Amino acid sequence: MTKTQASDIQAKWELQNPGALCEHPVQELSRSGLRDEVHLLSMYHCRECGEAIVHTIRPST
Ligand SMILES: [Zn+2]
Repeated sequence: MTKTQASDIQAKWELQNPGALCEHPVQELSRSGLRDEVHLLSMYHCRECGEAIVHTIRPST
């Protein structure tokens, strides 16, 4: 796999981030600084439908 292919796949993953469940644009940060074993997370919720959205920021290691 070339470097270009790798970054293409990475871009695809970012587009398919499960955080994109809600299509409303107005999302409000509700909690930040959360972490699981691997990732640093921020939680948002949608002002329109109340959908909770988790943004994975980066690996914490
Ligand atoms: Zn929504």
